Amino acid sequence: MIIDIHAHLGEDVVFDESLNEQELINAYKEHHIDGGIVQPYLPRPYVSDTMEIHNRIYQLTKNKEKKFWGMASICPHFRPGDYDKEAKRCINELRFVGIKITPIGHATHPSSKDALHVWEVCQELKVPIMIHTGAGVPFSDPISIAKAIELFPDVTCVLAHGGSEMHNQQATYLAKKYDNVYLEPSWVGVLGVMNMINQLGYDKIMYSSDNIYNIPVELAKYKSLVKNQDDLDKILYKNAVRIYHLDV
Ligand SMILES: [Zn+2]
Repeated sequence: MIIDIHAHLGEDVVFDESLNEQELINAYKEHHIDGGIVQPYLPRPYVSDTMEIHNRIYQLTKNKEKKFWGMASICPHFRPGDYDKEAKRCINELRFVGIKITPIGHATHPSSKDALHVWEVCQELKVPIMIHTGAGVPFSDPISIAKAIELFPDVTCVLAHGGSEMHNQQATYLAKKYDNVYLEPSWVGVLGVMNMINQLGYDKIMYSSDNIYNIPVELAKYKSLVKNQDDLDKILYKNAVRIYHLDV
């Protein structure tokens, strides 16, 4: 089984990307991906646009061909009441499994006051927080998250892109130091991922693509580095099932 913990849907006005439901399903069929955790491509920063893409993701979670789970992505600068209402709707009603902060896209330092509110919401709703790391330094430098990680040791934190190619040492350092920190190393080169495995073992790393054209590239990295099937299964789906409580 293979589960992709970082997929997108919709139209992104920050990174100028887009993907629709059928394109994602077709890519998963082509590469034998069993399912994915899908988050919005960043819409225009309005509550209504945010709800609209969350609703689309919710519809996708009912798809029968592949397994899909939702991840909420809400601008942390929305008024707290609006933020809380949409976060609770996503987790409690739409049964989403996590919440995302994209520092560069949301213009949010991940340990700032508004970001810490997101951590509080994740703590209350008992879901992992995912934070984009890599492009968008200094906000997206993994070390920017250290303060929040220490303030919320009971909130599971997944570092998206594992710091990416430039900052994966910092991400690996945090994942080694803090029990509640995990990595999804999409876009990290194979030597960076090897270093992650050497330092962390196989229990804190999760397969993810971020982009359908990157699906086979990410698979190739793990197939090159990990020869034991049990270890490979942890990265390809078992860690994701455990960390996000996925009903597979
Ligand atoms: Zn992404």
